[in-house]
Amino acid sequence: MTVRTRFAPSPTGFLHIGGVRTALFNWLYARQHGGQFLLRVDDTDQQRNVEEALAPILHGFEWLGLDWDEGPVSSVAEGAGDKQSKGDFGPYFQSQRGEHYAAAVDQLLASGAAYRDYARPEEVQAEREAAEKAKESFVYSRQWRAETDADRARFEAEGREAVVRLLMPREGTLVLNDLVRGEVRFDWAREQDHVIQRADGSPIYHLATVVDDELMKISHVIRAEEHLSNTPRQVFIAEALGYTPPQFAHLPYVAEPGSKNKLSKRKLDKYLKNRDFAALNEKGQQIAARLGLETSAETFNPVIVDFYEQVGFLPEAILNYLLLLGWSLDDSREEFTVPEMIEHFSLGRVNKAPASFDPAKLLAFQDRAMQQVPAKQKTPRCLEMLKAAGLVSDPPACDTGPVVAGIVQAASDRLKVYGDILDYDDFFTADDQLAYDEKTWQKRMVKPDDAGPLLAKYREVLAKTPDASAEELEAGLKAFCESEGIGIGQIIHALRVATTGKGVGFGMFETLQLLGHERRLARIDHALARLSG
Ligand code: GLU
Repeated sequence: MTVRTRFAPSPTGFLHIGGVRTALFNWLYARQHGGQFLLRVDDTDQQRNVEEALAPILHGFEWLGLDWDEGPVSSVAEGAGDKQSKGDFGPYFQSQRGEHYAAAVDQLLASGAAYRDYARPEEVQAEREAAEKAKESFVYSRQWRAETDADRARFEAEGREAVVRLLMPREGTLVLNDLVRGEVRFDWAREQDHVIQRADGSPIYHLATVVDDELMKISHVIRAEEHLSNTPRQVFIAEALGYTPPQFAHLPYVAEPGSKNKLSKRKLDKYLKNRDFAALNEKGQQIAARLGLETSAETFNPVIVDFYEQVGFLPEAILNYLLLLGWSLDDSREEFTVPEMIEHFSLGRVNKAPASFDPAKLLAFQDRAMQQVPAKQKTPRCLEMLKAAGLVSDPPACDTGPVVAGIVQAASDRLKVYGDILDYDDFFTADDQLAYDEKTWQKRMVKPDDAGPLLAKYREVLAKTPDASAEELEAGLKAFCESEGIGIGQIIHALRVATTGKGVGFGMFETLQLLGHERRLARIDHALARLSG
């Protein structure tokens, strides 16, 4: 059997990290078995602009490297297994596949597994309420079911419209062997005659999904737990159409930080009370603000994948973190490269219990992954960030490439996400436009009486060493302090705020070296001028 999996997003306008976890498990399972992974857009029910609502989802897939294997340009029969380069085909769209669903409805009507139902919505609702009042479970009376053409004519003469409902069994049990949850039993009596086609002829998700899973030869349906309760009706549809249902694996929720409830992008206010979540969100917001991004909580928050890309996380860190949200190899190993994920993943080791989203752990994964990226490889993405933030002026204030490389080197593990490069914005500012942190300026330059004179004196020493390395600059400053009979602390803070505008940063001498001779002198001159008013 060829393993074929699919991810079936609804075009909601954003990619939820729980959705990515589902997609990742599908993708890994297909890759591990040399099978295919498909992307299929559940857009039978969409009022909005699907293309627009899908764009962030496709973009997220691309960023994460989750590629799919076929799409509408290759029919299932010819295309299966023929890997084409991505871009040759888009995902499947259910909205473009109506003929298949209509044919399936006809088949279900013809076999008697479904019926046309002419009840008005309020009539069904009245039955439902009556059952509730009587404290009985609701069982539809089927009194507007059209069994014959004469029934149809009569109902239509009353101005009624038909939906198509499943004629569900009312006794017996469905035993489902779920690959994650094990044996799950469903009493048919608890199921309803679910609608599969609306009065306007459009198909309902359950029908479309079963038909597509069959036509696309999906072997394993790996999806969120919330669909477990939909499975009986889907199995009913599949069997009534003569299909062999796929194997099911229902994944536990990705839960909220510190609780077992499903993680939702609508409950941000609640999550922001969690310190780690708030810290992650804050970090993202700060970077986004520098990038001038639109940061409404609706579209930009740690529940949505886009957040991580914008802020400059590594896709491999996100994938590694999501892998462990509900799956483990053993109780200890946490680090997996993508090929290792493909090698080791198994549905059998997916937990049944929900796994809570843990922002601190995600940051730790990112931190570790970032430290493993060679400094040289970090430069291009940092440069992109700086450009996006408008920090690389034209002409640039410095020799940007080498300066970025130098900062990356010097910042080392302080660069936790690519957006952190923006903390070093002062390097890219023209020397006469440096913004000074006013509190630090007051404390380090204005308050100590000797800050100005010492800095002016040191400037003359510095002026004589144009080619000094960081080590030589350090030795030079130490010698200066000795000859002045001062501690290094008496000048170095003033020197930092004068040359960077800030109170913190990485090594002072690396900073001076990176600025270069002209710029460090110019900055000291500007600071001294500012000090003297
Ligand atoms: N569109 C559904 C969802 O996003 C897909 C469910 C399925 O995989 O069958 O939850």
